[in-house]
Amino acid sequence: MTPKILLSFDVEEFDMPLEYNFNISIETQMEIGKKGLDNLMPILNNDNYTTTLFTTANFANHYPDLIKTLSDKHEIASHTFYHSNFTTADLLSSRLRLSEITEKPITGLRMPRMRLVPMKDIQEAGYLYDASMNPTWLPGRYNNFNKPRTLYKEEGMIRIPASVSPNFRIPLFWLSFKNFPYALYLRLALQTLRKDGYLSLYFHPWEFTNINAFGLPKYTIKGSDNELLEKLYRLLNDLKKQAKFCTMSDFLEITTIE
Ligand SMILES: [Zn+2]
Repeated sequence: MTPKILLSFDVEEFDMPLEYNFNISIETQMEIGKKGLDNLMPILNNDNYTTTLFTTANFANHYPDLIKTLSDKHEIASHTFYHSNFTTADLLSSRLRLSEITEKPITGLRMPRMRLVPMKDIQEAGYLYDASMNPTWLPGRYNNFNKPRTLYKEEGMIRIPASVSPNFRIPLFWLSFKNFPYALYLRLALQTLRKDGYLSLYFHPWEFTNINAFGLPKYTIKGSDNELLEKLYRLLNDLKKQAKFCTMSDFLEITTIE
């Protein structure tokens, strides 16, 4: 089977400054999220790149036509209802709202900040898979070294972890892409792709805007905006020589899970 790239974006209100006690209005959060999505349009409209867009229902409520249009080519999945707060009922309400907007079934979930929720709750809200797992150790956040590194089932729920390298489980998530030299990141990504047969990568649209003015730590904003967009073009171009891009739900249709 041709190796697959599961490229995903968390399409959301830009609330990260709140984590650092920097006040940002909901309007500005939405505008920055939308601007990032606009900046990604050349990629999202490119025939080579099919992606999964984990979208908060809150963001989709602000830009329903845009999300509907994107759903023609990309998979829309749930990033719950609000990025800044969560109750269990949001799992179902976000799935229903996104389904209403796209007129398509919504089968995937990724929790904001990879927050841990019981698999039973995800299942009861009608999802078929969960992509809220980064199987590595992030100091001060989570330690998932004991979790499988690749696709697995947990309490009946399919989980698609974010990719980490086979050796030492170096995460290939957004902060690595930003902070690692390009050649190192690409080498780790290709190594993981060869070993696993697929690569699951995720970014946020707001990374591809200017976010210098919001009091964020340097390692989160380093090389953002156009510089990062150029880096992403380069990565996707290199990856498409080795693999085919597909949505997470399409990937699950052609894959068997132990
Ligand atoms: Zn998020």
